[in-house]
Amino acid sequence: MIIPSFMHDALPARVVFGQGTLRLLPEEVDRLNLERVLVVSTAEQKAQANEIAARLGSRTAAIFPGAVMHTPIDVTEVALAIATDRRADGVVAIGGGSAIGLSKAIALRSDLPQIVIPTTYAGSEATPILGETDKGEKTTLRSMKVLPETILYDVNLSTGLPVAMSMTSGLNAMAHAAEALYSPDRNPLVDLMAEAGLAALISALPRIHAQSDDIEGRSAALYGAWMCGSCLGSVGMALHHKICHTLGGAFGLPHAEMHAVMLPHSLAYNLAAVPDVRGKLSRLFKHVDAIKALENFTRGLGVPRALRDLGMPEEGIEQAADLAVKKPYPNPRPIERDAVRDMLARAWAGEFPQMTA
Ligand code: NAD
Repeated sequence: MIIPSFMHDALPARVVFGQGTLRLLPEEVDRLNLERVLVVSTAEQKAQANEIAARLGSRTAAIFPGAVMHTPIDVTEVALAIATDRRADGVVAIGGGSAIGLSKAIALRSDLPQIVIPTTYAGSEATPILGETDKGEKTTLRSMKVLPETILYDVNLSTGLPVAMSMTSGLNAMAHAAEALYSPDRNPLVDLMAEAGLAALISALPRIHAQSDDIEGRSAALYGAWMCGSCLGSVGMALHHKICHTLGGAFGLPHAEMHAVMLPHSLAYNLAAVPDVRGKLSRLFKHVDAIKALENFTRGLGVPRALRDLGMPEEGIEQAADLAVKKPYPNPRPIERDAVRDMLARAWAGEFPQMTA
């Protein structure tokens, strides 16, 4: 067998994974020689931030439970001022992409080392990517400065993620792996991670849907999130992520829900152009029709199926189609405005996805 030529940049990160691993946090803080950390979270996870601060005792310089979605720069500036004022020498973030985004934004500006404790499946912890918003406008950058030094996954913490959020967050993760499979810079290692991540989440999400504290399901889902996040960190994404960035920016639609609605539609747009990926997804879903299987999978998880239910106005379809074809990401099928518009119209109305090529 001849392995096709490839390039791969391995991302440095220490990963600690398991049940009850939060007890290891003080050791991880010592490992990085940190003496005064800033603990960040969203307001909703303030109690967990307080618990972490209590565990770290005198090694906590301050707590900032003010992270919000899309990492607004004014929030970062407040947190950074606290870090500077309290002479913090590191950041510990607990939460999903919002808390981790804030941690990354602080690291970008201060070079402070980060320990992140993910409690959703969004995958930001495993990427050198940071999306920030300034006066409502979102920009995304890639920098090794924002890649966390240590990821501490504690399966027990993820059991608190409400089922509905777990489902959409899991589908958000699956989107990273699915698009990695047809990325122009894919490679054998990323393919392995993508398939492992998809397989883990395909088995885990129905279990969590049936029982929120199913520990095997939670364990597999968090592992899948790491695999899928690592794909996002390693290779470029395509139409699906472009559409989601567009819809998030233009209409403020909720991040994970939007991924959950769009994923079957985006894959229906692309899969005819990548029959090998279509075959892989069919095998993973154990179904001859990968799109039908994925759409039915999402319906079984009870996640939203229509962009209109997320608050997108119908007249936004044309605007979104215009924006999505502007500066497109590399994509296996050419980005055709009318076909993208029709796909968005189906997703807006909650119709079944259609392969149109
Ligand atoms: P989130 O971090 O906004 O979390 C949603 C809500 O759930 C928050 O209120 C949070 O506090 C709460 N929550 C999280 N975990 C919980 C738990 N275990 N129990 C109870 N409540 C919990 O949502 P998200 O989807 O993880 O992240 C979305 C953000 O992350 C977006 O801004 C997105 O752009 C960004 N993101 C960035 C990357 C990247 O690589 N840079 C990757 C994925 C997502």
